[in-house]
Amino acid sequence: VQFLNVHKSFGQVEVLKGINLTVEEQQVVCLIGPSGSGKSTLLRCVNHLEMTTSGAITVGGRMIGYDVYGDRLREASQLEINRRRSKIGMVFQSFNLFGHMTAKENVMFGPIKLLKMSKKDAQAHAEELLKKVGLSDRMDNYPSQLSGGQQQRVAIARALSMKPEVMLFDEPTSALDPELVGEVLDVMNQLARDGMTMIVVTHEMGFAREMGDVVVFMDNGVIVEQGDPHEVLGNPQHERTKSFLAKVL
Ligand code: ATP
Ligand code: MG
Repeated sequence: VQFLNVHKSFGQVEVLKGINLTVEEQQVVCLIGPSGSGKSTLLRCVNHLEMTTSGAITVGGRMIGYDVYGDRLREASQLEINRRRSKIGMVFQSFNLFGHMTAKENVMFGPIKLLKMSKKDAQAHAEELLKKVGLSDRMDNYPSQLSGGQQQRVAIARALSMKPEVMLFDEPTSALDPELVGEVLDVMNQLARDGMTMIVVTHEMGFAREMGDVVVFMDNGVIVEQGDPHEVLGNPQHERTKSFLAKVL
């Protein structure tokens, strides 16, 4: 994933002010920074939930937000946007599962609808993924019958069901009770070890330190500092990074 001089404004307010960042395949990049610094907006631009005002984002060499002819994807291209979005897994703070579907049905939905997988194959694939996230015994439960940590793990399995090229996580553990955070981080650890390319907005500095290949500190729409997690977290060079870390560590 590559960000080339990405700008994003909402009306008069510029929220991203020229972001340049390269995320290599199989890398885990952790985004940290104060509230309002633009972390979610940056992720949302990758997943077509927002359009950049200028600059470019590429995933696997393809430009986000443009068709093969180099024209901007418009509302009318919703089908194309959905197709592309499915290759970019996103997990939010709120779990966003379909409430009227069981865990397994949630994970089967995308492959059947968008990948045109047969029901039988989708079911086998869903079972495999739910097993991977430690939920073999919960496949037929509805979201309301699952804990927050279990729901978030279903959400991860659902994103993985589309065989994404990259996974985006936006504070995936911050809505969870503290005792449930570990089980979700464990699944993310496993994914990282399996070589998934991941961009993770997180307040979990332990995760960033252990699993991040790169930590990126954002403030006020710019990248202030980025590099090896032990360097950025242990020996920050910028005043703004220092004062942020003093508050969260
Ligand atoms: P947090 O840590 O609180 O989640 P963040 O770093 O994810 O913060 P963003 O959600 O990206 O920050 O928001 C960056 C700025 O953009 C904020 O000032 C926010 O108010 C503004 N913003 C975000 N979305 C919109 C929108 N749809 N319309 C107008 N302003 C927006
Ligand atoms: Mg956010």
